[in-house]
Amino acid sequence: MAEILVRSHNLVKIYKAFNLEVVALQGLDLSVPRGEMLALVGPSGAGKSTLLNILGGLDDPSAGKCEVAGVDLTRLTRQERLLYRRRIVGHVWQQTSRNLLSDLTLLDNVLVPMIVAGYPAGRQKKRAKALLGLVGLGDRLHHKPDRLSGGEQQRGALAVALANEPPLLLADEPTGELDSVTAGDVLRLLRQLNAELGLTTIVVTHDTVVAENMDRSVAIRDGRTSTEVLHAEEAEETVIIDGVGRLQIPKPLLEAIPFGGRASVRLGDGHIELWPAGGNGENGSAASGNGRAS
Ligand code: ADP
Repeated sequence: MAEILVRSHNLVKIYKAFNLEVVALQGLDLSVPRGEMLALVGPSGAGKSTLLNILGGLDDPSAGKCEVAGVDLTRLTRQERLLYRRRIVGHVWQQTSRNLLSDLTLLDNVLVPMIVAGYPAGRQKKRAKALLGLVGLGDRLHHKPDRLSGGEQQRGALAVALANEPPLLLADEPTGELDSVTAGDVLRLLRQLNAELGLTTIVVTHDTVVAENMDRSVAIRDGRTSTEVLHAEEAEETVIIDGVGRLQIPKPLLEAIPFGGRASVRLGDGHIELWPAGGNGENGSAASGNGRAS
């Protein structure tokens, strides 16, 4: 079985602003095997960016467990957090302007993170050039970002993100500012990097085309993982059951059956049935699941 690179359990993130508390993640479980390409999908405000920021070492979890490549993200010192961000994760943002320093050439943009992380000086230039070649920009080494197209800038951003050979790439709507043809090129490049470098990739996206090009899509709803689709298989949507048996019933099903906030749970032959509390199951208003509703 593949090694689990990202593992979160019961992850909680609470933002405090003035006297208000916003619970952005409320007990989220997620496991990502090394080498997987994963899409995080779900409505706005569901907690996708919060999760990405925690995995990127940009934000602290409030409670729960979160481990990436053996690093426990809940108890990092300042110095450890810096090292984590330099060596374990690469980040690509939607805004092309956020990924590249506008005053530097592409080559220098890739060199900066290597210099900061103390990558062996004698190997920096060779690796930077090889990376830019890998993303198809071998002939743009000395161009500044404003002389590159949107697609070229995102490919350059990937080279920067991968400068220090991180095992995990995080991308927040990486094709959000690109037209569909250019977005397709970036997606193919992500797949190529995954195949050639064994790169584990987590992409936050609203774009179904992007999600379908990943190995798996996990939907986040109300700060928890709710459903997932494995794209390599028959693309059936399944409900995620977390470590303590909670699941989120998909909204259309919940709207179809008037549960009124409670359900009675019965064991069937190889399955579990959820009935509106007090119902006898003979009126056809059954919902089946494989766990305990939260
Ligand atoms: P998504 O990426 O799925 O749109 P977010 O992770 O951005 O969702 O947000 C989840 C919830 O946390 C939202 O209610 C949002 O308003 C809140 N939130 C996100 N960042 C902050 C912050 N820095 N301070 C306060 N609330 C925040």
